[in-house]
Amino acid sequence: MKGICILGSTGSIGVSTLDVVARHPDRYKVVALTANNNLDRLLEQCRVHKPSYVALLDEAKAEDFRARLATEGLMGTKVLCGTRALEEVASLTEVDSVMAAIVGAAGLLPTLAAAKAGKSILLANKEALVMSGPLFMRAVVQYGAELLPIDSEHNAIFQCMPANYHAGRRASEVRRILLTASGGPFLNKALSELHDVSPDQAVAHPNWVMGRKISVDSATMMNKGLEVIEACLLFNMPPEQIQVVVHPQSVIHSLVDYVDGTVLAQMGNPDMRIPIAHALAWPERFESGAEPLDLFSVRQLNFEAPDFGRFPNLRLAYEAVRSGGTMPAILNAANEVAVASFLEARIRFTAIPEIIDHTMQSLSVQRAESIEEVLEADHQARVIAHDYIATLT
Ligand code: NAD
Ligand code: MG
Repeated sequence: MKGICILGSTGSIGVSTLDVVARHPDRYKVVALTANNNLDRLLEQCRVHKPSYVALLDEAKAEDFRARLATEGLMGTKVLCGTRALEEVASLTEVDSVMAAIVGAAGLLPTLAAAKAGKSILLANKEALVMSGPLFMRAVVQYGAELLPIDSEHNAIFQCMPANYHAGRRASEVRRILLTASGGPFLNKALSELHDVSPDQAVAHPNWVMGRKISVDSATMMNKGLEVIEACLLFNMPPEQIQVVVHPQSVIHSLVDYVDGTVLAQMGNPDMRIPIAHALAWPERFESGAEPLDLFSVRQLNFEAPDFGRFPNLRLAYEAVRSGGTMPAILNAANEVAVASFLEARIRFTAIPEIIDHTMQSLSVQRAESIEEVLEADHQARVIAHDYIATLT
């Protein structure tokens, strides 16, 4: 029996994780859940899974939640609060696996704490890895942690890697990684119309139901940009060996091209319970609850090259990973600020890449030798992005 901590249990990935865990009560015990919103859902999760700990960011919410647990008679769950509490629950001795499913930079320190505690990390929170890059990968090795990718593409690549592959190792027999992208809701929209798209249009993804931030990232293709950086780190490959392939059906989740000409692909329905179950059961396999793939209803698989003119964020992400150091953290922070402003309807969709480009050009790249330097770059980028947005609105 393994103990699991889910960072961000009330989000899209958190909910799917608990769905899979509930199918295997003989394999996993929920030790800790963390959340920042949706306390009704968190309470329901506590009723079903009876975690030993819950960690909330905010003291007032924690106080309220303690009272709600008491009313329900759920006295076995201890409620902690604050950012340090997230790090604490991710490092508990009774926790074997940590699902990192907080969205954005807020997930960095708890995920890093899990690495330093030598846990098996199921990594959905791509922003944490993009920001801290080599530092994070070094911590995984130094503290004997295990890193299993949850992002569907990276999980697919991991599955297509040679036997006994571990994240961070360079597989010299691999020539290229082919990273698939759905292209999001605006793949075929006239460029002139992108100016006026609303937040609700941007979050309406054709194939996946996800949190709002990653849904906007899919519409701008920054999600794929962050995933290129994520792939460089997880698979220890230079960006030139990572080819983005637009594949609108989202049935092939990515491919690995070997030096002998063999190309291995991982396929399945677009259901995040598949990569989650893969990582939870690894190196074995168990049921995820996903429907079997019906190729006769899929019928066609299409592929096209990405359009860097339509999706400038993809170009910016390649630039950031080539610059290295603090630049991926700067790209990520500027994107988080721009997307939040777009979701509040303060800026236009087309301003998102403009804000990121401006922020990247305004800051010089530093070496990112410590987590403090990464957090400082993140902070500076947010200030610059906010100031720039103020000139637009
Ligand atoms: P979401 O918005 O649905 O959920 C985010 C979770 O994080 C919630 O539980 C929320 O309470 C918590 N949270 C938000 N801000 C926080 C903060 N400041 N401090 C602590 N907790 C906070 O997001 P999601 O779609 O589940 O995505 C989570 C992560 O997984 C993201 O990094 C995303 O890129 C990645 N991911 C998601 C999917 C997907 O299908 N949803 C696929 C691949 C990767
Ligand atoms: Mg993905």
